[in-house]
Amino acid sequence: MARVFNFSAGPAMVPEAVIQKARDEMLDWQGSGMSVMEMSHRGKEFMSIAEKAEADLRELMAIPANYKVLFLQGGASSQFAMVPMNLLRGKTGADYINTGAWSKKAIAEAKRYCEVNIAGEGDGSNVPAQNALQLSADAAYVHFTPNETIGGVEFPYLPETGDVPLVADMSSTILSRPMDVSKYGVIYAGAQKNIGPAGLTVVIVRDDLIGETIAGTPSMFSYQTHVDTDSMYNTPPTYGWYLAGLVFEWLKEKGGLAGMAAINERKAGKLYAAIDNSDFYANPVALDCRSLMNIPFTLANADLDATFLAEAKEIGLVTLKGHRSVGGMRASIYNAMPEEGVDALVSFMADFEKRNG
Ligand SMILES: *Cc1c(COP(=O)(O)O)cnc(C)c1O
Repeated sequence: MARVFNFSAGPAMVPEAVIQKARDEMLDWQGSGMSVMEMSHRGKEFMSIAEKAEADLRELMAIPANYKVLFLQGGASSQFAMVPMNLLRGKTGADYINTGAWSKKAIAEAKRYCEVNIAGEGDGSNVPAQNALQLSADAAYVHFTPNETIGGVEFPYLPETGDVPLVADMSSTILSRPMDVSKYGVIYAGAQKNIGPAGLTVVIVRDDLIGETIAGTPSMFSYQTHVDTDSMYNTPPTYGWYLAGLVFEWLKEKGGLAGMAAINERKAGKLYAAIDNSDFYANPVALDCRSLMNIPFTLANADLDATFLAEAKEIGLVTLKGHRSVGGMRASIYNAMPEEGVDALVSFMADFEKRNG
């Protein structure tokens, strides 16, 4: 059996050590005689798994005590609605910074519930500067997408919003490096990029923002519902929660988020260098807004795209096709992508250029 290096944007690679541990525990979790997927979410075995996962995530991200951590379903896409439903709190509008495809989806959904002020926009290859942001004084919150997964555009700075809560869709950047949680009102992320399997959504929310929802909010869409029940109002995504916990343990062994950041910077640095040091490959993103996690690149001759993808696949480098809206290639190199995967891609790119450039 040969595992490939999978550059998918999501669902994406999970650390091999985590999958092996899950395999070893698959039929009988620690003497319980059952698989985690067969356990009652209210039994003591699963409760211990759930509590450890939350404790490890809190430790990794240094989440302050006045923040709740929720393990939900519905993906980041449900948060596009849950954020306005829970955070408007009597206000009528919110500020959104638009830096690409995922910002646009968040904005479209928010418009169903409130007035949306576009506080700043990128051009697809950059983000607006802090001093170009037009924040409204009475905004309920400011929403932004720290890393645009499709465009490969990342904020090089943290927007300063004064007393207005900052909300971040961190789906493709959470856990990639240390970050100061206390600067945010809400952080949310679908798990399938940098946390674990699809089906789990992690929400980190400051406790003063919980408790008031707009009229008609379904119980399942109220943060308070999930806070009151430790994310067990209904059956949570137990197996995804367990696997996320294994990933958190793996991250702690890897030196935590500071350790990951160093590895991630090295990996991205190698790939950007390979692109920049050639006339054959190009990345369209402004230098200071380049993503550490998702690296789109084009070939000088787009007629070679299909050959590039086919030859890469032959040697176990898969899912490099760029998003249909962007074209070209995209290499997503989340925490679980080993550095050897990036090295293999870089050397294939050089070889391909030599033969076709
Ligand atoms: C993948 C992604 C989403 C969508 O996540 P789902 O969990 O599929 O709803 C939203 N935002 C960003 C930044 C993403 O990368």
